[in-house]
Amino acid sequence: MNTPAPRTVVVTGGSRGLGAGIVQSFLDAGDRVATCSRSATDLVEQWQSDEALADRFLFLKADVSDRDQATGFVTAVVEEWGSIDVLVNNAGVARDGVLALFSDDDADTVIDLNLKATISLTRRVVRNMLAHGGGRIVNISSIVGLTGYRGLSVYGATKAALDGFTRALARELGSKSITVNGIAPGYLRTEMSHGLDEGQLQQIVRRTPAGRLGEPDDIARAVQFLVDPRNDWITGQVLVVDGGLTS
Ligand code: NAP
Repeated sequence: MNTPAPRTVVVTGGSRGLGAGIVQSFLDAGDRVATCSRSATDLVEQWQSDEALADRFLFLKADVSDRDQATGFVTAVVEEWGSIDVLVNNAGVARDGVLALFSDDDADTVIDLNLKATISLTRRVVRNMLAHGGGRIVNISSIVGLTGYRGLSVYGATKAALDGFTRALARELGSKSITVNGIAPGYLRTEMSHGLDEGQLQQIVRRTPAGRLGEPDDIARAVQFLVDPRNDWITGQVLVVDGGLTS
């Protein structure tokens, strides 16, 4: 059996949490992975110092909400490896609070990263994918964009908008061999869910048919499914991966 050729994969926000799980899944598959975040973590340093990954892992400190830094990140990947085959838009932020007490600054932070930065970075990567004739894009959304959650109205708005972006972009790029899909995870055990108190987490677990919170691997496996070169007829979809919570 032939080993598949390594792909060049860009994952935003891969230093911890879900992004780190997604990075690991691509490294395990033998791909070249570039990721960024505002600061490095022990895990990033571990990948950087692993000789077996010397020419397969690239980390850049970059805030993707800053257009110059986002452009610098994409440019560095292209200079290093040429073409980009897979983009996973994972970096995201949640600020919770009821809307009446929510600050404009917090709303800007959430919209700037979850929506504006994702759109802007995707545009840069799409130009590269169009130039080399194909690709796979996966946008990490959230079930909060589908069902809503008290105290997460702005976050939910960005994720619902991201789903709209996924569907429209899939129509735009379908004939160019580029698929665009989303994944809407349920509640995961990452730093982001630290904003939920123990009572809220227990209530979520009670209401989840699978009886537990999600782990990054649960989502990373769904990403691998959507970017599989054979799955070129799945596009414009938002796959819910939530242990059945919204079923
Ligand atoms: P997390 O643990 O907070 O990790 C977020 C990652 O993004 C980190 O690597 C962080 O590193 C990076 N990041 C944050 N702001 C950034 C910026 N401006 N520029 C570049 N990188 C940035 O979050 P997570 O739970 O893994 O969430 C990942 C994605 O899953 C998000 O899109 C989130 O909305 C979605 N999601 C999460 C859950 C959940 O329950 N956790 C559920 C549904 C969907 P730095 O802070 O160092 O920049």
